[in-house]
Formats: sequence, C-alpha cells, structure tokens
Amino acid sequence: MSPVDFTEPDYSPPATVKKSAKKWRIAVDDRTKDMPNEVIVCRANGHPWTEVPVPANRLAALEAIGLTELRDICLRCQLPRTQTYELGSGNLLTSDIDYKRNPDYLIKQKGTGKLPRSDAKRALLVRRLPQYAA
Ligand SMILES: [Zn+2]
Repeated sequence: MSPVDFTEPDYSPPATVKKSAKKWRIAVDDRTKDMPNEVIVCRANGHPWTEVPVPANRLAALEAIGLTELRDICLRCQLPRTQTYELGSGNLLTSDIDYKRNPDYLIKQKGTGKLPRSDAKRALLVRRLPQYAA
C-alpha cells in the first residue's frame, strides 16, 4: 500500500493535560475480546459494501408489484444486505442486513444484539494503539 499524506490537525492539548499520556488507560467492553478484528472495524467504521447482482427472475417478480431490490455484501465481514425500493418514487423501503450470516458480528451473550458503535470504536482504538489498553 502506498503511503498516504495525512494532514495532521492541531490538537494542542489544554494546559491541564498531563504529559504522562502513556499512563492513560482505556477500558474496553469485555464482550469485544473474542470478536474478530474485521467485525470490530465494520462495527466501528461501517461496512465497505460491494454490489451483488440480483437474479432477473427476482427483479421481474418485484417489478410486478412495483418494487425492486439491491443486494450488497460487505468486503470485510461478509455480511449480506438487501434493500427494497419502491419503483416510481425510488424511495428506500427496507434495508436489512442478515447478521446470522456472520455469527461473530453479534454479541455472544444472549439477547444483547449488536455492540454499541461507541464500544466498537473504543475497542478498535485500543487494538490499534495497545499501549492504552487498561
Ligand atoms: Zn462488514
């Protein structure tokens, strides 16, 4: 991968910030420990979707009732997404991600669902900068 020239914003610390930043620790949700990196990255930053063709017979059946469909798959965590649109208006009616297709995406503890995005961002931060792990 070629190097990218990032512009560095000026984050001058306020006078009250201690210089011993390496002593700072960030507590991460224990439930993220067993989650694969691609799942943490997708939950924190969003899925990189790529198009999957919809079979012609499916499109024809939907068109008969004034609808159409787009299908995508995440390049990173492999979750599939189906979006239903209303023909004519072009309005998005439904957008469904089939989380069962990647069991690692949902929190293992029963009934807890998706990891809150803020927790995923915190987990990603500590995975990339482990010196801040609590
Ligand atoms: Zn993903």
